[in-house]
Amino acid sequence: MPLGWRFEDIIEFMHDVASGRELRTMLDTTSRTESGEQLPLHLHSSKGDCQWDPTNIMIYVHRLSAGATTEMLRCADTSTNDVVCKVASTELGRKSLVNEARIYEDPRVLHLQGKEIPMFYGLFEARTPVQRCGDSTDTTHIMCLVLEKCGSTIGADDDKDALLVQTPEFRLATARAYWTLHQCGIRKESPYELSKLFRPSNILIREDGSPCIIDFARASKHICPCGVNIHPAEKWYIVKGCDELGFICDYARIWPPRFAYITNNDGDIVYQWHYLRDQAAEDYDLEELGLEDLEPNVALEMVQAALEKCEARWVKWETDFAYAFATWQA
Ligand SMILES: [Zn+2]
Repeated sequence: MPLGWRFEDIIEFMHDVASGRELRTMLDTTSRTESGEQLPLHLHSSKGDCQWDPTNIMIYVHRLSAGATTEMLRCADTSTNDVVCKVASTELGRKSLVNEARIYEDPRVLHLQGKEIPMFYGLFEARTPVQRCGDSTDTTHIMCLVLEKCGSTIGADDDKDALLVQTPEFRLATARAYWTLHQCGIRKESPYELSKLFRPSNILIREDGSPCIIDFARASKHICPCGVNIHPAEKWYIVKGCDELGFICDYARIWPPRFAYITNNDGDIVYQWHYLRDQAAEDYDLEELGLEDLEPNVALEMVQAALEKCEARWVKWETDFAYAFATWQA
């Protein structure tokens, strides 16, 4: 974004093209927030959040105008008129907005708009030659993606527990929202470095308490190997074939504890094995667990203690998710 540009300047800049006029008609340029601040509000830029992000997308909050609202909200199951405007002027920024718009426009995900993903109101653009010093001219090319403002984020990007502190119902619903997206042929992030790309700020809580996933800048088409619905009773292995679903389900900790483990004094796991609820400590082969060098009695006690801890986690998991399971609709 050229330095010093305000959103009003951008709208002004886009005024001469049809797409810009459409954008101007769509937004209410006179509205204020509940606290009296003039809209649009500049939220932040993608670069500010993440220094390695070269797209430098500026994000504003604005409001749909009354005329646009009636038309646009008619088919949307949403009560808000607030929109998020993502504006880019760099080539990479524009590419990422175009990619995001293509995802929203994909016929397979249209029915998710206003629910698992935001309503999409359009991608607008303007390209104008700008006089530089002397005779040289340059072209300024701006794009603006307009989306429903869906709620508040679950937490900051450095808050690793942001999802974990949500209710089990919300965690399960978030995993399911990802699953639904995958079943519609879209994955949110590229397959590499998922843990680095995953951002808690991309999960929002709607007013009705349901999750909404945002930011499809890196989203792509995807044939998901997980054809079965995520149901806790189906156990974790159904998402084993899909890295993103596996990641989000692990991150939301929706599965029962899978491993019993023994730690050293520093808390590092030194032995772990698949936990089977109906198996007693005596049933385990100490050699198979890698404990053959220890005194059998000591080893047995360690196994027993590890099993008890794992069982306690199982019981907590069952208690936490009891309601979520009961209300789960496959
Ligand atoms: Zn998948």
